[in-house]
Amino acid sequence: MKIDRIKVINYWKSMCRKFNAKLQPKSKSRMMRAMGWMLERSGSMTAKKFARYTTTIGRTVYIPFTLGTPSDEWDLEHQIITCAHEMVHVTQAGKTRRSRARFYIRYLTSKKWRTKYEMEAYGANFLFHYRLTGVFLSPSYIAGLLKSYGCSKADKKRAIRYYARINQGLGAGNKIGHPTARYCLDHLED
Ligand SMILES: [Zn+2]
Repeated sequence: MKIDRIKVINYWKSMCRKFNAKLQPKSKSRMMRAMGWMLERSGSMTAKKFARYTTTIGRTVYIPFTLGTPSDEWDLEHQIITCAHEMVHVTQAGKTRRSRARFYIRYLTSKKWRTKYEMEAYGANFLFHYRLTGVFLSPSYIAGLLKSYGCSKADKKRAIRYYARINQGLGAGNKIGHPTARYCLDHLED
């Protein structure tokens, strides 16, 4: 499948419509700059590093790249995969203020919940990588990425089992992974 600028733009538009999400350039957001500053002050990460990540708050996805324009860090495939990953987070946060507040409290204060949320979202990376390249990512490689979210050894093991199940299911055509990740994948070729 050919992924070009128009494909990336239309895909994001259509997924944002489906999941009621909004897109904003991260560099233009005052709130994101303030968050970067706070993270740097608290010693969590540098503002520069934070500015390079995609961040979803509520139903707004702040992207550090120009949609449809490839860069060294963000090629077009990566921009597509990130869309599915962030839509999983939008779904996890739910539709009400209350559910969103609960999601962020859990995400920020509980390593266990944060790992669970990221494990499901990285399931999208797993599914898309296979669809776009035909290559299975190694479950332990992708579970290892969760380390930067503070996951424990037990969480990592759980994630390896989760991705291994996705891995087996991919070949068998089963319904696997998070429903939002599957929806995004099913509509990749629309
Ligand atoms: Zn994530």
